[in-house]
Amino acid sequence: MKNVIFIAPPAAGKGTQSSMLESLGYIHISTGDMLREEIKTESSLGKELKEIMDKGLLVSDDIVFELINNKLSSIDKPFILDGFPRSLNQAYMLNDLFNKLNIDNYEVIYLDLDMEVALKRALGRLTCSCGASYNIYDDKLKPSVDGICDKCGKELTKRSDDNEESFNKRFQTFIDNTKPIKDYYESLNKLHIVDAKKDSKEISDIIIDILK
Ligand code: AMP
Repeated sequence: MKNVIFIAPPAAGKGTQSSMLESLGYIHISTGDMLREEIKTESSLGKELKEIMDKGLLVSDDIVFELINNKLSSIDKPFILDGFPRSLNQAYMLNDLFNKLNIDNYEVIYLDLDMEVALKRALGRLTCSCGASYNIYDDKLKPSVDGICDKCGKELTKRSDDNEESFNKRFQTFIDNTKPIKDYYESLNKLHIVDAKKDSKEISDIIIDILK
């Protein structure tokens, strides 16, 4: 199976599709998750990151690139990049890293969703520290017991940046930054646009087909 770069607005279902690919042996590399791990340590970097992320702003390229560089240099399984690159500059940095590591077998999947649907999904999203993700506005993604993880029984939490103000900022940042990234990957013949309004199973089947 080929490696995959997901590009998607917040709440387009990257997390759900990544879990599906993980069950097929993929390693999920999410810059958002790695940054949230750093915040949990309550280090001074973590406190700085929390402030930036709660405002819906982007963390500096150097910080996220270091995370990606360390991770990609040390794995030997197919991987999912989730949340990186988020700017054209990051796409160039990644291309240089791929060249250095001889990585060419990858595809870029763009999950396409309009803002209204994405906002509703973000406001209903609940996550668990075990990595599972739910949505109270989607019958297929609701937890069986309100607020409790089906997989491990822990209490579910809402991400602190899944509020309307932060969401609008993140969505706008995404729109502003994405067009050149899409154009770049299109010029490399790597871009696949998938309609993220479809049912998540249907989206999974499309993605698996692309990565064969
Ligand atoms: P995510 O979980 O992918 O929605 O990311 C949550 C937040 O982490 C974003 O709103 C940014 O503040 C930060 N972040 C994640 N990935 C990146 C990246 N590639 N570049 C800059 N900031 C990022």
